[in-house]
Amino acid sequence: MKPWQAWIAGPCHWYLCHSKGKTKPCLHHMTNGALKCPRCEVGEHAEEVGYLPLYRMLDGKPVMVIVHEASREQIDGLKLHAPVQVGRGAERSDPVWVQPMLVAPRYTSSIADRLKPAKLTPSLLKIWKVPGLMEWLLKRGAAPAIAAPDETAAPPVKSDGKPFDGFHAAAARRYAAPASAGSAVDDVLGRALKGKQPKPSTNGDGHH
Ligand SMILES: [Zn+2]
Ligand SMILES: [Zn+2]
Repeated sequence: MKPWQAWIAGPCHWYLCHSKGKTKPCLHHMTNGALKCPRCEVGEHAEEVGYLPLYRMLDGKPVMVIVHEASREQIDGLKLHAPVQVGRGAERSDPVWVQPMLVAPRYTSSIADRLKPAKLTPSLLKIWKVPGLMEWLLKRGAAPAIAAPDETAAPPVKSDGKPFDGFHAAAARRYAAPASAGSAVDDVLGRALKGKQPKPSTNGDGHH
């Protein structure tokens, strides 16, 4: 894909994920060891993956890119609304890179929610659809609103400007919509992850 420009929409969300096929979080890790992870149990590797919310400069649309651990320090150093250039190496498997832009227009929006850091967690829960995770979060006090996706918002686009596929569409829509229900989920997830970080599996792949 050709490099494109964006503003940072909020902090990058980092999770230990299984990234073979569809990238999904490690259930064991997400639940602080409370639940077993079927993907760990079949020996799938897990790695830190970042979900970075952006506003595309071209049209201001909210988009989300998946970034890898190697770029974490640099990406976490980017401030809200910082202008960035986004690209990827020639190979399909090359990681996405995000570099600060030195000269760029300032971010502005008439949408109040977009002046605050974007809340990604509800969107991520929707795209992940990890069995057991939603139930676990609800049991621990997350807002039930996250279980009812809002299908009415305008369809957002993904990082290369093309529409999201079905798998990502609902999530991206959630992200594009005002995310007032998000904070409760963030709180629960935050509390869970603040505890001791378990190994990704009790009987896992043996190389952690
Ligand atoms: Zn796992
Ligand atoms: Zn591993």
